[in-house]
Formats: sequence, structure tokens, C-alpha cells
Amino acid sequence: MNIPLTSDPRVIIIGGGFAGVSLAKKLSKQEVQVVLLDKNNYHTFQPLLYQVSTGGLEPDSIAYPIRKILKDFPNFHFRLANVEEINTVENKVLTDIGKLKFDYLVIASGAETNYFGNSEIEKHSMAMKTIPESLNLRSLILENFEEALLTSDLNERNSLMNFVIVGGGPTGVELAGALAEIKKGILPKDYPDLDTRLAQIHIIQSSDCILKGMSDKASEKAEDFLEKLGVNVWKNVRVINYDGKTVTTNTDLTFETATLVWAAGVKGAAIKGMDAGEFVTKGERLLVNEFNQVKGFNNVFAIGDIACMATEEFPNGLPMMAQPAIQQGKQLGENMVRLIEEKPMQPFVYKDKGVMATIGRNKAVVDLPKFKFQGVFAWYVWMFVHLFFLIGFRNRMVVFINWVYNYIRFDREARLIIRPFKKKLKS
Ligand SMILES: Cc1cc2nc3c(=O)[nH]c(=O)nc-3n(C[C@H](O)[C@H](O)[C@H](O)COP(=O)(O)OP(=O)(O)OC[C@H]3O[C@@H](n4cnc5c(N)ncnc54)[C@H](O)[C@@H]3O)c2cc1C
Repeated sequence: MNIPLTSDPRVIIIGGGFAGVSLAKKLSKQEVQVVLLDKNNYHTFQPLLYQVSTGGLEPDSIAYPIRKILKDFPNFHFRLANVEEINTVENKVLTDIGKLKFDYLVIASGAETNYFGNSEIEKHSMAMKTIPESLNLRSLILENFEEALLTSDLNERNSLMNFVIVGGGPTGVELAGALAEIKKGILPKDYPDLDTRLAQIHIIQSSDCILKGMSDKASEKAEDFLEKLGVNVWKNVRVINYDGKTVTTNTDLTFETATLVWAAGVKGAAIKGMDAGEFVTKGERLLVNEFNQVKGFNNVFAIGDIACMATEEFPNGLPMMAQPAIQQGKQLGENMVRLIEEKPMQPFVYKDKGVMATIGRNKAVVDLPKFKFQGVFAWYVWMFVHLFFLIGFRNRMVVFINWVYNYIRFDREARLIIRPFKKKLKS
């Protein structure tokens, strides 16, 4: 891997997401050698993926080169590598570009889509966890309308213009709202020869409310916003299967659709060698103690989505969100220095800074620890927070200018089929 051997302890970090990057930043001024491995050479700002899928933002504006984030730190090394296996007996990681020994290992590999073992749904549905997946979805949505314009088969046309989103969490809600705005503002202009009023957007949630982790008020208001935008919200309905044409549910309801977006679950992105045993818990996350040490190990840590740290308030582990990942990365950076200096580590305490979701223009819901509000002000807060956490000045400017432009012009100019997606390619 061409990493120099030094007298400093070597810390390998797997994953340059929110957790891995905040840890690397903390460690990069310390007397340790930091090796960050990621299968992509960029950091993805996942909260805005839905805007890439719906042509509101170009993909480059929510990605940032990992090398650039840490370019000023001499003890930092990045390698573009897919970690295939972890060997905790010999303290080494095995990757597609070679193997490397570590003194300390930090697993920050995030999460991946959870289909709960349903291979039919996995094969036929669309996920939205990465930039390539978001681009696939963007292409598919647009290709569907191009096909709908040409077909004379009414059933086929309806199916092409029917969008079913499974999962009423922030991802599903934000995507449904954005699709509804496209239907209203863009489609009639782009496809004057097609009756785009027939396009339907359904969001299906297995429990009795959407945005389950948020307050009742936020959930009710979000549902109200969605319904006003023309989205059909189905609650207490569980999707059982999708064969590429028909969505079947645990009720009499079925949906004919060419597009099913699966936003109903995530699980830890476990890596061979650390994907079984007593340290793997529900949702394939790694059980960690209050210092983020993986159960049974002193020199192997996990942070962010892959880590399951149970607390009194969150007995099933902290929420799989950006804030716990960032905070754990920072805290572990400080703890590793203490560990190397043979000082006692400090336990991690999660500071809940709130949850928010946007449903569309002027429509968002925000639950802060002390205040809860919805509507226009919430929407401004949502935009400010997302701009603040985006990495890179250029990205912030590009996103801001795009948002202002889209707001004034009711437009989404990135509605481009750059890399056509054909469903059959997935099989
Ligand atoms: C569509 C969407 C919307 C979201 N919206 C919000 C939101 O509004 N607010 C919020 O707080 N959270 C949101 N989240 C969740 C948030 O993005 C995650 O909680 C956060 O990214 C977790 O950070 P992480 O560092 O643990 O993992 P990630 O950010 O996922 O980073 C993991 C990294 O590990 C790399 N990796 C994985 N496996 C390997 C391997 N084997 N070898 C090499 N590299 C590997 C990946 O390439 C990736 O770069 C959203 C997530 C999604 C998907």
C-alpha cells in the first residue's frame, strides 16, 4: 500500500463518512500515523442525496475529495481501497489493494440498505444510499416519463408515472415531497403532450405515523404538508413484495408501478471478520462500550452508523444520524490520544441537537431539544443547518446558489439523463 513505517502507532480508519472524517481531523495533529481507507475517494453528504435524485442539485455539490479534507496533515495517508476482511488475530486489514497492519483500528463503514432478506425487493427496487444510486434513480424517473410519453398502453403509462416510496422516515418524506413538486412545477412544462396530472406519488409506512422518531406535531404536520402536495400517505401498510411491476402489501392494497424506492431500512455495513459473533447486534451493528471499543477488544473501535452504543435513552443504540457519527469521531480522537498517553479515556455522552426534515418549498419540521416548530421558519433553519454541515466552501456556494435559483424560478435544472439506467441491468 506504500505506507511508510514509522515509530508512531498506526491508526487505520475504515470509512471517510461523517464519523471517519471527524476522527481523522482530530488525530491528524497528534503523534500517530493515520491511514484512512475508503472505497470512494470522496465524502458523501447523504442528507442531500434526495435532491440529486430529483434534479435539484448536481452530484458534485454534495461530494468532497477526502484527500483535500486532510491535505495539510503530514501524518495522514489516504488509500482508495475496499476493505474486504478484518483479521483481529494478526491485527491487519485485507483490502483489494493489499493488506496493512494496524495498532488501532476504527471501523466507520456506515450503513447500507436493509431489505430484510427479501431478494425480490432488492432486485427490483431502487435504493438511495450513495451518489451512484441517486443518479440511477434520477435517470429512471426521467426515463419513465420519456417512455410514458410514447406508449399507447394506458396501464403501462400509469405504471410508469406511479412512484411508490416505502418508508416514512426523513428520506422517504423528503423524496416524496420533492417528487410532488416536480409533478406540479416541472412535468407540465417538460411534457406538454402527456397528461402529467395522472402521475401519482405514494408513500407507504408500516406503522401508524410518518417521521416516527420525531414529535407527534412534526409527524402530523409533515403528513399534512405531503397531502397538500398531492402525495398519498399510506400508514399501517407493510410492503410484502415487488416483482418489478406490482407492489403487494399485507392488506388488500396493491400498486402497479415501474418505480419502487426502498427507504424502509438500513443495517450496519459490516465487514468480513467482524460480521459475526457476540459483538454483532440487531441491524448488523457492532456493539460498543461507552468508549466506542468493540465488545471484547481494546484496540478495535467502531463509530457512527456501524456502532451500536446503547444508552438509557436509546437502549437499541444511538440513532443512525450524522450528529452521533460526528460527535463520536471527535470524542474518540480525544480518547485515542489519552489511550496512547496511558491516561483514562472519557465516556461518550451524546448531545442531542435535534432532528429535522423538509417536505418542500417553505415546508419543513424541526424538533430541537427545547423548541419544536414547523413551516417557513423551519425550512430556513433546515437550509441553514444543511449548508453549515456541507464540506467545502465551493459546495456551500453551489448549493446555496442552486437553491436560490430553484426557489425563484421554480426549477430543477439537473434533470438530466447523463448515465441512462435500465432496470434490467440490475438483475
Ligand atoms: C438519503 C439519506 C438521508 C439522510 N438524511 C439525514 C439527515 O437529514 N440528518 C441526519 O442526521 N442524518 C441523515 N442521514 C444519515 C446520515 O447520513 C448517516 O447517519 C451518516 O452518514 C453516518 O455517518 P458514518 O460516518 O457512520 O457513515 P457514512 O457517512 O455512511 O460513511 C461510511 C463510509 O465508509 C465507506 N465504506 C463502507 N464500507 C467500506 C469498506 N468495506 N471499505 C472501504 N470503505 C468503506 C463508505 O464508502 C463511506 O464513505 C441520511 C442518510 C441517507 C442515506
